[in-house]
Amino acid sequence: MFLKKIEIQGFKSFADRIQIEFQPGINAIVGPNGSGKSNVTDAIRWVLGEQSVKSLRGSKLEDIIFAGSLKRKPLGMAEVTVVLDNEDHFLPLDFTEISITRRVFRSGESEFYLNKVPCRLKDIQELLMDTGIGKDGYSIISQGEIDEFLLSKPEERRLIFEETAGITKHKARKKESEKKLEETSMNISRLDDLINELE
Ligand code: ATP
Repeated sequence: MFLKKIEIQGFKSFADRIQIEFQPGINAIVGPNGSGKSNVTDAIRWVLGEQSVKSLRGSKLEDIIFAGSLKRKPLGMAEVTVVLDNEDHFLPLDFTEISITRRVFRSGESEFYLNKVPCRLKDIQELLMDTGIGKDGYSIISQGEIDEFLLSKPEERRLIFEETAGITKHKARKKESEKKLEETSMNISRLDDLINELE
């Protein structure tokens, strides 16, 4: 599995639709300061499920939508698509190519698509959980993150190892099941009350 292509439109400095194709192995994006290199990694982070605008170097949701320039009006929507090569079926879907799309409008409304089919953010997060490429997968290391790792507390460092070891998905499922169990036991006691009232 590897990142094959990214398409960006309306995201940060990219007003026009751009497409970058990658090859297996090392690829480099070079350009002058402020030309948008980090915006490309922000776009990848965002489409893979990042929810924190701060992590995308913004302060509010609108900061990720093209804000306009001297020659161009601001845009109303940002859209990013990544295409992943899945020939090796690393991702558990029966497709040799998987596209993930995310859109956001100035109104705050968001849309997500998996292979062009509308889906929930949760579907994308679950697909990528424990693969190392999700939002917390450490496949994108930004400036300062290594220092943060070295300075982090043992409990925080443990979370990083859990994600890389592939147990985050099971922890999330366990939490969900515990919540359902709790709801069910509340329903049972409510039913007991009703039965007692009827008897
Ligand atoms: P450096 O080499 O200095 O790290 P870079 O190539 O990584 O630079 P980026 O940080 O990706 O550059 O891009 C910064 C540019 O993106 C700035 O010119 C900034 O004005 C522009 N930019 C960021 N958000 C938006 C937005 N919402 N609308 C328009 N332009 C934006």
